[in-house]
Amino acid sequence: MSTSISRRKAGEDAEVIVVGAGPAGSTAATYLARAGLDVLLLEKSTFPREKVCGDGLTPRGVKQLIDLGIDTREEAGWLHNKGLRVVGGGVTLELDWPDLASFPPYGVVRTRQDFDEMLARTAQRAGARLAEQTTVIGAVTDERTGRIVGVTAKAGPDKTPVTYRAPIILACDGVSARLALSVGMEKIDARPMGVAVRRYYASPRSKDDYLESHLELWDRSDPANPVLLPGYGWIFGMGDGTVNVGLGMLSTSKAYGKTDYRKLMRSWLDGTPEEWGFREHNALGKIGGAGLPMGFNRTPHYRDGLLLVGDAGGMVNPFNGEGIGYAMESARLAAECVIQAMARREGPARERALAGYPLALRQSLGSYYRLGNVFSKLIGNPVVMRTATKYGMPRETLMKLVLKLLAGLYDQKDGDAFDRVITAATRLAPTVK
Ligand SMILES: Cc1cc2nc3c(=O)[nH]c(=O)nc-3n(C[C@H](O)[C@H](O)[C@H](O)COP(=O)(O)OP(=O)(O)OC[C@H]3O[C@@H](n4cnc5c(N)ncnc54)[C@H](O)[C@@H]3O)c2cc1C
Repeated sequence: MSTSISRRKAGEDAEVIVVGAGPAGSTAATYLARAGLDVLLLEKSTFPREKVCGDGLTPRGVKQLIDLGIDTREEAGWLHNKGLRVVGGGVTLELDWPDLASFPPYGVVRTRQDFDEMLARTAQRAGARLAEQTTVIGAVTDERTGRIVGVTAKAGPDKTPVTYRAPIILACDGVSARLALSVGMEKIDARPMGVAVRRYYASPRSKDDYLESHLELWDRSDPANPVLLPGYGWIFGMGDGTVNVGLGMLSTSKAYGKTDYRKLMRSWLDGTPEEWGFREHNALGKIGGAGLPMGFNRTPHYRDGLLLVGDAGGMVNPFNGEGIGYAMESARLAAECVIQAMARREGPARERALAGYPLALRQSLGSYYRLGNVFSKLIGNPVVMRTATKYGMPRETLMKLVLKLLAGLYDQKDGDAFDRVITAATRLAPTVK
């Protein structure tokens, strides 16, 4: 709830402005509002709205929902899954999510249409003021200090120009990162980027206890001549008669940027068994696609009053393309630092608290993402990928370790032997800056 004694100065519209009400923005706004801050949450669309995504959360993402106080039980309408089915190298493996102290033993799926509205309403209930149909176009910078003190936007159906001011701004506007770009914060091309497309199909595979991941995409439309396509695929049953099917590719792959992703998806799906239903007449809506900014590909995460959170700060896990949970994780860290900052006077003391955000990110994800960035370079090479699939897949014990590493599912303290190996590896790796 908002404070009774406001810290707002004359001319300010809020204590914190959050741009974008996706998982990053709504999570940050919830924590900030719960701490008594006056939060303005600006969103260009109107809920409910679609978001192109695979709609799948591993236990790492579910933990963030639980931390936020969301009821994630099946009774509350969530479709649980118990692990990952990996298909590749002629082998199919069902790997259950590991039993850990740090994360729940289940993942979930939920359409982003539902998911994002639920999170935005959670932020509103906490006291954040949500302004929909408000597209932020740039930052307002104090010419004297260089500090970002507000945003310009176009609001409502008439796109009326508006300006909002606050001492702290969170950029949670996703992969487009319009706000960061408006102050010259470009993405770092040396860090991995992914691209992914997805489509919904009516399919008998809708109820599935596992998220399914395909390490190789085969075009088997001519059974006599199967063709190996570039990229990785997923099939996530949504439990309601539909399936979310998609594929992704890394910027480290030679085919990246030179591929017609929609055509690639059709070639893959045309070669899947007829009875799965992935054919044009069962398709629901169009193929949608977007970029996956990985491994901290936009930094610094804090500068002059502006914090980059979620996709805007390149928070997608370079090991597995998961972004929702990491958007929420970074939002929580950002909110914690902003709450501390707003309890201090403007000036160096407040700045120290805000500078804690990139430090906290580095501490929790920096070394792991450093390994992930190296990993993404390796698997961008089809020879490495094929060899790893061929020799790795038949070894179930090894694949259990791989799952823990790729999904960031390990206990850093008192874990099993695998957890200790991963923790040691992340300790040895320098952090991404
Ligand atoms: C095809 C595909 C499949 C994926 N599958 C998965 C998956 O299965 N699991 C997973 O965890 N991750 C997945 N991801 C990644 C995931 O979608 C993102 O990492 C996640 O949505 C990031 O959350 P965010 O809040 O940072 O950004 P977003 O979810 O993009 O939210 C940004 C919000 O800001 C708003 N906005 C944008 N610009 C402005 C502006 N100028 N002014 C005001 N508002 C603005 C947008 O409307 C949106 O509401 C997938 C991505 C793609 C493309």
